[in-house]
Amino acid sequence: MLEFSEKCEVLKNDTVGRYVIAGKKISAGEVLLTEGPTLIIPTCSETRCTNCYRLTKRQCGICNILLLCESCPSHDEFECSFFVKRKNINSKFLLDNVNLYGIIKCLLLNENPHTRNVYEQLCSLESHQETRRGTEIWSDHTKTIVEPIISSGIIPCFKETRNINEELIQHICGVIDVNSFEIRAPDEGSMRAIYLKASLLAHHCVANTVIAIDGNNQMRIYANCNVEKGDMLTYCYTNPLLGTEERRNALLIGKYFYCNCTRCDDPTELGSHMSSLLCNACPSGDGVIVQRANWMCEKCSFMIDEEYVKSILRNAKEEIYLAKDDIRKYEGLISKFSKVFHCNHYLIIDLKQNVAAILRSFLMNPICKPGKMVLQRKTTLCGDILAVLQIVQPGISRLKAIALYEMFSSYTEFNRLRFHESEINECELLGILGEAEIMLREAIRMLLYEPVNTPEGQLTRNMLKELRDLQNDIRMLSK
Ligand SMILES: [Zn+2]
Ligand SMILES: [Zn+2]
Ligand SMILES: [Zn+2]
Ligand SMILES: [Zn+2]
Repeated sequence: MLEFSEKCEVLKNDTVGRYVIAGKKISAGEVLLTEGPTLIIPTCSETRCTNCYRLTKRQCGICNILLLCESCPSHDEFECSFFVKRKNINSKFLLDNVNLYGIIKCLLLNENPHTRNVYEQLCSLESHQETRRGTEIWSDHTKTIVEPIISSGIIPCFKETRNINEELIQHICGVIDVNSFEIRAPDEGSMRAIYLKASLLAHHCVANTVIAIDGNNQMRIYANCNVEKGDMLTYCYTNPLLGTEERRNALLIGKYFYCNCTRCDDPTELGSHMSSLLCNACPSGDGVIVQRANWMCEKCSFMIDEEYVKSILRNAKEEIYLAKDDIRKYEGLISKFSKVFHCNHYLIIDLKQNVAAILRSFLMNPICKPGKMVLQRKTTLCGDILAVLQIVQPGISRLKAIALYEMFSSYTEFNRLRFHESEINECELLGILGEAEIMLREAIRMLLYEPVNTPEGQLTRNMLKELRDLQNDIRMLSK
């Protein structure tokens, strides 16, 4: 399938342009689109092979223009021979300005008769040219892409030379910035890629689809919940574990729109309270302050100044930054912030994720023998993160699956230790392992949609093996 599934319909209106809806009822897990990348662009200043995208600084020995690593014998025949005939290009200059390769690859799509329509589709994507004009990113592109590409002498090679001007190059830069997806690079790091069909999906902070990209950069989009006929199909362009203001800012800066989705428009963020503060004026002590017209307590109507909230957040972020990977400092900040912010506040969740990650690497070290406290702490942290994810990613979710799996691991380990220290008996352990099996099965169920040749696919295989071992243990214990 290289098109949307027959259950999807692409529509168009004046406010959002093209978008996709469910033309029929769709079930959770159903694949909606499988698509390969139209254009892959290495991230800023990285030099990657045009054929396999591994890091390289070597240019193709035949065309002397495009990059080709030592393991790749050749690259696209059209692209190679296109440049062989052209001698006036400063290839050394290109090597010093590797950011130009993304634009060159894009212009090549227009030269090749077989990909000309792909180029046209790519150029028809939104670039927010007028909003970007004159901004910092615009002048940055002028300096690092527009001016160098003109000096490189490459433009006269292309057939529509006259049309390749600053306007067009800025438009292509905009299309790439606004529409590209982050993908894994083959060796390390990440790259950006344009997927023409997938970029038609609208954004929602609680999206109903998940995107999975396999080791060959093939994208698969599937529904993460049941979708009713007529519902818009959406994808979350930003980190769902950020608070509303942070998400809105990221979307405004990167994608040029102000999000008005149901989560952003709800001051409680669907009851997750990921941006809420605690009220210290409430006699009962359980009031929550949310941002409506003002920052106000939902219980006692106590109000606080917006500038004050901003300064608390600024200071808190500064403190997190200064705590840099120090687990004791992170734990201290969690206790401190828990008196000011709601326990689900995104800064507390961020700290909890950081602490969980440090504990994870500690537990993975085979030399260390973790005590029960460490295991118990990690179980609690995963549970807290999971509780928030249940609200902001209600359906099938990769983040949820991983948090659940991590919780399963430390919870089982913790209780096995208790059993060895005779704190619980065999019958109690059996009950706990039964619960753990349910957790692990649920985590696997959500990851089964991941492509096999990805780290998540590998994780799923390990989890299936763990499930068999766990079931064996349960069988042995019940005898
Ligand atoms: Zn290569
Ligand atoms: Zn070549
Ligand atoms: Zn939103
Ligand atoms: Zn109050």
